[in-house]
Amino acid sequence: MKSRLIGVLTILALSISATAMPVSAAVKVGAKCKVVGQIKAKKSKEFTCIAKGKKLVWSKAKTTKKIVPQVTPTPTPVQTSFSFKFNLDKSLPEDWTIEFKKIMNTLQDILPINPNINNYVRNSVMEIYSWSSAVANPFTEKPNMSGASISGDSPTNRWMVLEINRDEFKNDNSHRYSAIVHEYFHVYQIALSKDSMSPKWLVEGGAKVLEEIFVEQYYGKSNLEGDLKFQKLWSDDVFANPSLFEKYETSSSGDMQRGWMDMNYAGSAYMVLTLVKELQKDNVPEQKALEMVFRDFWVEKSTQRDWKLAFEKVFKMSVETFYARLGKFSRTDIDSILPSKPLKIQEIFITK
Ligand SMILES: [Zn+2]
Repeated sequence: MKSRLIGVLTILALSISATAMPVSAAVKVGAKCKVVGQIKAKKSKEFTCIAKGKKLVWSKAKTTKKIVPQVTPTPTPVQTSFSFKFNLDKSLPEDWTIEFKKIMNTLQDILPINPNINNYVRNSVMEIYSWSSAVANPFTEKPNMSGASISGDSPTNRWMVLEINRDEFKNDNSHRYSAIVHEYFHVYQIALSKDSMSPKWLVEGGAKVLEEIFVEQYYGKSNLEGDLKFQKLWSDDVFANPSLFEKYETSSSGDMQRGWMDMNYAGSAYMVLTLVKELQKDNVPEQKALEMVFRDFWVEKSTQRDWKLAFEKVFKMSVETFYARLGKFSRTDIDSILPSKPLKIQEIFITK
C-alpha cells in the first residue's frame, strides 16, 4: 500500500530588512544619510537613502508591509489506509488458506488497492468471508451469502464473499485460487474507477482474463482455453451483437440445453482478448495492452464516467470501431488470442 503525507503545515515567515547597523536617531525624511541605496527601517517604516541635489537624504517613508504568517487550516486527518480482514472458516483446507494469504499478499503488492474506495471514505476495512461449500454459510452475522462476489449494503460498507465449491478442492481445480484473484480485481476496479463499473464485458472479461493469467503463472494451469473452447459457455452474439455484453441483464441468459450467453464470463473474456489483440496490431505491446485493459481504462473512468468516451481516450479507437473489428473474428481464432504463456502479472502492472 502506498501512503501519502497529507497536511504538512507550512508557516511562511518573512522578515524584511534585517540590517545589522543600529538605526540612528537621525533617520527621518530629509535627514542626512551616507550611502545611496541604503535602506533602514524604523517603527515599521522604511527609509531609503537617495541623492537630492548635492546632498544625500533619507527619502519619504513608506509603510512597511506587515507580513502576517498565513496559517493553513489544519485539514481533517485523512487516513489513506485500506485493508482487508480475513474471516476464513475452518471448513477450508489448510493448504488453501495458506495459498489464500500468499495470493492476497502478491496481489496487494503488485496491484495495490487505491485507498479511495468505499465512496471515497478512505479509512476502511473490507471483510472477506470465506468458507467451503461443504458446509452452510458459517457466518451468522452475514446471512444470505453464497457464491463469490463483492457485496454490500451501502457504497461505504462492502465485503467480499468467497464460497469455494467443495469439488474444486477434490479436482485440483485452479478456480479455487483464481476466484480470489477475480474478486480482488473487482475491488481494484471499484477503487480506481471510483465505482464506475461498466461495461460488463470489461468488468468481468477483465477479471476473468486476469485470474487465469495469475493461476497460469503461479499454478501452471488455467481454465481460460477450456472455457473459451467450450462452445456452450458463450454465444456468437459476441461477434454479431457485442453491445449486448455491455450489461448483465442482456448477456446472462442461457441453460444447459441451448447454451449460455456468457457463462464463466467466457464471452466477455473473448472480447477483452480480442481488444488486446487489436491493440497489438496497432503496435501496442501485449503487456501494455493488458495494462490498459486492467488499469488505465479504470483510472480514466474515475473522471470520465461515460465509458465509451473513456474507451476511446484510452484505446485510441471508438467502441464502434472495435466492435466492427471484433466482428471479423470467429471461434477458430481462440488459439491466436490467448495470452502468451510466459506472461507475468509483474510485467503487466508497471504503473503503481
Ligand atoms: Zn466478477
